[in-house]
Amino acid sequence: MEKITSLAKRRGFVFQSSEIYGGQNGAWDYGPMGVELKNRIAAAWWKEMTQLHDDIVGLDAAILMHPRTWEASGHVENFTDPLVDCKKCKARFRADQIPPENLAAKKCPECGGELTDTRKFNLMFKTHIGPAEDSASIIYLRPETAQGIYVNYKNIIQSNRMKIPFGIAQIGKAFRNEIVTKNFIFRTCEFEQMEMQFFVKPGTDEEWFNEWRKRRWAYYEKLGVKMDHLRWHQHGPDELAHYAKDAYDIEYLFPMGWRELEGVHNRTNYDLNRHTQYSGKDMQYIDQDNNNERYIPYIIETSAGLTRNLLMILCDAYDEEQVASEKNSGGSEGSADDWRTVLRFHPSLAPVTVAVLPLMKKDGLAEMAQDIRKELKEDFATDYDQGGAIGRRYRRQDEAGTPFCVTVDYQSKEDHTVTLRFRDSMEQARVPIAELAARLRQEIKSYKRIK
Ligand code: ATP
Repeated sequence: MEKITSLAKRRGFVFQSSEIYGGQNGAWDYGPMGVELKNRIAAAWWKEMTQLHDDIVGLDAAILMHPRTWEASGHVENFTDPLVDCKKCKARFRADQIPPENLAAKKCPECGGELTDTRKFNLMFKTHIGPAEDSASIIYLRPETAQGIYVNYKNIIQSNRMKIPFGIAQIGKAFRNEIVTKNFIFRTCEFEQMEMQFFVKPGTDEEWFNEWRKRRWAYYEKLGVKMDHLRWHQHGPDELAHYAKDAYDIEYLFPMGWRELEGVHNRTNYDLNRHTQYSGKDMQYIDQDNNNERYIPYIIETSAGLTRNLLMILCDAYDEEQVASEKNSGGSEGSADDWRTVLRFHPSLAPVTVAVLPLMKKDGLAEMAQDIRKELKEDFATDYDQGGAIGRRYRRQDEAGTPFCVTVDYQSKEDHTVTLRFRDSMEQARVPIAELAARLRQEIKSYKRIK
């Protein structure tokens, strides 16, 4: 994880928030490469959920919601973590994350000092709206995006004539006052979620739950994630959230071990029942195709962290390998014991898709490379680099996860071809400039991860 954290900073993926003031715990900033990667992960999920599913529509609800929402959802009462402190070293732990024997003996796992009793700690950030700081002005930062979907479900049925079964997808920020934030961006106080709520007829919920488990698994396969680094974890009775009938996590093998990446939950009709109760509004669905049958739908939720997905994609893509000498290496790189760090992003996720590199700055090669870049820019995320030996420039692009490099050399001037160099195999092909864009499109479409 240290290597990934340092590469993320060095290459402009992720910076510590407010670093010049010593950093802000639980918050991170996404740099030029990070924001591109995050946007592409979000776009891949959005496409999967909305474009590829006729029965799912999108939503972007406000972060600030009426405070009654969180009473109805059960978050005011139940969204707590068990907290213990060490009286000696002042370390703070989540009681469910330390060894049970330490908890039983009230012994600090770090210094052996005495632990306090376990107390409940609500994870919602509370603030005030308006000028008065009294109890009437309390408002929460949403701890999940899901509730924005539930309170809009009737609006969406009416405005978009949706019929059950159907889904609503949303990507947005969520906030949790996490007790322990470690492992880089894995668990943070401010993060982003990609959630989809699928509304179904009661009695069909188990079938849809299994269907969504299958679809979410297939999604990660399509993204080229190492499938032996993914597994299912079913929530036991003591892990199930207050609203859930059944829940499975997709776990990923992060450098610190297996951890939750995404949850698939059968939330029953709990949320809509509660909103009926708290708002006094009728949340029933009227099935016009079925004698106006009325019922409160069940909800199957798929809930993934966007920022946690970004960490997963970084870990999954990270590789170090020993490489033999490379053609066009310019002599100063590529000896037999050369090592490279490479991020094997799927080309559809890579922040830069293609880098254009003139072999030399002189003799018109730079101008020719700039022209090629200009052409490619309309359709691809491009980079241009003319500094240093070509081998070193390839390494820089490998480390940034750029899947394709185009090198312009003296032959290019004669026959209007360029070298297309592939990040994963480091193989090179000679391609006519006129065919470059089509070739890149085809390579992206047929991409298969080889390592
Ligand atoms: P945990 O029990 O680990 O605190 P959770 O089971 O409460 O997490 P969910 O409420 O199911 O998590 O959240 C859905 C998804 O949102 C998670 O799978 C994760 O990807 C993401 N997520 C939740 N909390 C955080 C956080 N603090 N930082 C980053 N991502 C988070």
